[in-house]
Amino acid sequence: MKRWLVALLGAVTLAVAPAMVRAAKTLDIYFIDVEGGQATLVVTPAGESMLIDAGFPSDDALIAPIYGMKPGASANGRDPKRILAAAKDAGLSQIDYMLVTHFHADHDGGIVELAEMLPMRTFVDHGEPAPGTDEAVPLSMANFERYKALRAKGRHLEPAPGDLLPLKGVEARVVSADALVLAKPLPGAGAANPACSGQGVPAQEKIENPHSIGIRLQYGQFRFLNLGDLSGPPLHALSCPNDLIGRIDVYLVAHHGGADAADPAIFKAIEPLVAVFNNGPRKGAQPVALATVRQLSAIDGWQLHRSLIPNAENAPDDRLANLDESTSAWIKVSASDDGSFTVTNGRTGYSKTYRR
Ligand SMILES: [Zn+2]
Repeated sequence: MKRWLVALLGAVTLAVAPAMVRAAKTLDIYFIDVEGGQATLVVTPAGESMLIDAGFPSDDALIAPIYGMKPGASANGRDPKRILAAAKDAGLSQIDYMLVTHFHADHDGGIVELAEMLPMRTFVDHGEPAPGTDEAVPLSMANFERYKALRAKGRHLEPAPGDLLPLKGVEARVVSADALVLAKPLPGAGAANPACSGQGVPAQEKIENPHSIGIRLQYGQFRFLNLGDLSGPPLHALSCPNDLIGRIDVYLVAHHGGADAADPAIFKAIEPLVAVFNNGPRKGAQPVALATVRQLSAIDGWQLHRSLIPNAENAPDDRLANLDESTSAWIKVSASDDGSFTVTNGRTGYSKTYRR
């Protein structure tokens, strides 16, 4: 009897095991902590990788005082090492697409060091820094020249709004680039947005941030919106007077959640279920941006850091990847083609699944 039961259980296990091995494929997105810069790693169900920005450089001489960093804060490849850890977690041995949203050191500064640890194949950017970039944010050109020399060794794409990036099995649609946005709404979008008012919020940095490449990444029913530091008129134009983008599931709030990304009209147009802030303790996630998300009760805010800015109403601790500087955890999103997705706090393992 007992032997019979064991045999039966064995047969059941054999019958079930192959289905368990063939786990549903997911689109995975790692929001990596680079202390108020950007580094977002996308791994498609087909195993292709796209890294969106790579945080700060190690060298203080390449970091403008405008970033307010303590000397040596990002020394010894801090950000490239954190990105490498996420890439290892995802089983990657190279970066297929290195997407540079725009040419500021908190986005392109870590690329050259990372490329020494992780080969990069195709570079995607908006070409050259906008005129006046170095006057507005010193040392941007020094970082760009290092990056440009690396870029020359690989394939280079300079997409325009409306273009598709050549990733397989997902739709990576460029929605903004070089201060231009989509000329017409994406399929299914285009409705008038009643939440629009005036000209929107002026950009805090008016030269290079508004040139950011923005993409809408779609896998099945799931959609992710990543706009880099897009702000000012191009950010406004994506949602006003008509919504050009359509419904989004996960929105990486533009410009780290700066005050210039806090226009409620954007959030009401795309109606995200989750808004991620790639903030630092004192950068991004401005009180007005956190308040905008909190006031829209359908949106859960997740933050890379607890904001220490006075009057910042932070998300609950479960949705804060890092409470202080003692950890450098990521936030990971895993999305299925039916549109459902799970967000996991890399510090605690807490996760929450969302579906419409
Ligand atoms: Zn930035």
